[in-house]
Amino acid sequence: MFRALGTAAGRCARVPPNAVSGLPGSLQVVATPIGNLGDLSRRALDVLASADVICCEDTRRTRALLAAESLPSSPRRLLSLHGHNEATRIGQVLELLRAGRTVALVSDAGTPTISDPGARLVAAAVDAGYGVSAVPGPCAPVSALVVSGLPTERFCFEGFLPRKGPERRRRLAELASEERTAVILEAPGRLAMLLADLQGAMGDRRVAVCRELTKVHEEVWRGRLADAATHFGQQPVRGEVVVVVEGRSAPVASQEALSASVRAHLAGGDSPRQAAEATAAELGVSRRRAYAEALAQRDRDGRSGLPSGPR
Ligand code: SAM
Repeated sequence: MFRALGTAAGRCARVPPNAVSGLPGSLQVVATPIGNLGDLSRRALDVLASADVICCEDTRRTRALLAAESLPSSPRRLLSLHGHNEATRIGQVLELLRAGRTVALVSDAGTPTISDPGARLVAAAVDAGYGVSAVPGPCAPVSALVVSGLPTERFCFEGFLPRKGPERRRRLAELASEERTAVILEAPGRLAMLLADLQGAMGDRRVAVCRELTKVHEEVWRGRLADAATHFGQQPVRGEVVVVVEGRSAPVASQEALSASVRAHLAGGDSPRQAAEATAAELGVSRRRAYAEALAQRDRDGRSGLPSGPR
């Protein structure tokens, strides 16, 4: 039986379980439902049933989950791990791993470490050379993204914005220049303010407000930021929400900038094809458009015998 080992040097090797600690301790990062018990995977059930210890945020919530699935939930199996005691718990969990125990890490709901505790524990286990595996499953930000109807090719996760002050303004300004779809968490009571602030910083972009995902009252509101700010300003929401906002459109390069870039590359000795490729990469314009400009400049310079253009 072998397990993968990630090392601090960034290598990944297949090693026998005893190679690092002498015993096969491992940390299993287990996603749990964000509102629908049916989303607990079979593998999650297996791991939660067999783990020696389960690190969890609120022991009452995890005990309720285990009880609902008829899994053993004795107090001895549960070890609370939250923002305030994570540093202390790390030593205890490393001891358990050293002793060859399997430790599961869960949060109250969703995927641990995603705006939830656990990242420092995972980093410590990785640094110490123990196996760390994901048992993937529910994750509110990802669920919101995939139902938003907004581009999913590139996205960024913002988590919760600071509640006020210069750091909130800085993060809003950063988001305004972001080209990727942004996924933001917010408390329901602060949703209208977030939408108004986003509109102030970004202008009137497309937005999806995803509420109570996977639950009976799941609802996705899709529209534009200005309408969303008005709508949710008049009609406060309850439950849990994720906001997904369209990224900034890529700026359209002016003809002057395009010509100047192509000219500079040709003057530097590039072929029209090379000049077009460099310009396309620098300005985000199409290679076809840049190549047409490169040919036009060469023609104006009276040169000929150019290769055929990019497809
Ligand atoms: N780690 C969790 C995950 O993977 O889903 C996220 C934890 S974060 C502390 C909790 C936030 O996630 C909530 O305030 C809300 O913004 C969002 N959230 C959680 N469950 C949700 C649901 N069912 N529908 C919409 N948003 C949800």
